[in-house]
Amino acid sequence: MTIVAKFGGTSMATAASIKQVAAILNTNPQRKICVVSAPGNIPGSDKMTDALLHKRRQSYGRRTMSLLRELNQGYQAQLVVLAKLLELESEQTDAARISFGEWLSAYLLAQVTGWRLVDASEVIIFCNNTVQVNIVWEEHERVIIPGFYGYDADANTIKLFPRGGSDITAALIAEKVQADLCERWTDVSGVFNKDPRYYQGAIHYARLTYPELLAVAEDTFQIFHPEGITPLQMAQIPLRIMNTFAAHEPGTLIQ
Ligand code: ASP
Repeated sequence: MTIVAKFGGTSMATAASIKQVAAILNTNPQRKICVVSAPGNIPGSDKMTDALLHKRRQSYGRRTMSLLRELNQGYQAQLVVLAKLLELESEQTDAARISFGEWLSAYLLAQVTGWRLVDASEVIIFCNNTVQVNIVWEEHERVIIPGFYGYDADANTIKLFPRGGSDITAALIAEKVQADLCERWTDVSGVFNKDPRYYQGAIHYARLTYPELLAVAEDTFQIFHPEGITPLQMAQIPLRIMNTFAAHEPGTLIQ
């Protein structure tokens, strides 16, 4: 059995949450492929992707350094990360610079788990208006892959999916490896008819079909990127929405 586990920005936002993600990955050996978003916003720091998008160098530089420090990463790791940032910044396309957020999340999680970091530019290839997925790892390996970007073979540069596109990366990889399950880990315990953070009586759904999901969810975008739902539905791969910060809760199974 193969599970593709995708962790959103809130799960990758702090050193503590990254350690929690590592613990979740290690509790189930069937989780073999992990896709991550860039670090999300925390008090005093905006979303890494937004800081990169708006060239707020001080903001993303400081955030990077504090994550490295809090995860006890030494000089060697700091040098690897700095070199990557400089390389992406020197490419002078917005997409290359923006992709650093997802790359950083994947790098840090790979350091914490010991899993292999496989760069998305080797896996997701944009070519002639299609997206190809290359499996460049062995079946027995457990890998961490940055979401949201890939390599544009026509333009010879990095290309991004639409915002929120790490879900699309996870769905396309799940489809390619014929995964048994795709998990999306977020900060809400599944699908509700209303946002449970603001509505006390929000109804929780334990199971839904893909068509039901579109009917009940106020905003499916919050649950999974619409462009990622179709490949999963077509390949009949169930999707489980889970909460990183309440991992024991069953979440919602969509199939
Ligand atoms: N980090 C990107 C965004 O903020 C992609 C993602 O999180 O899926 O849109």
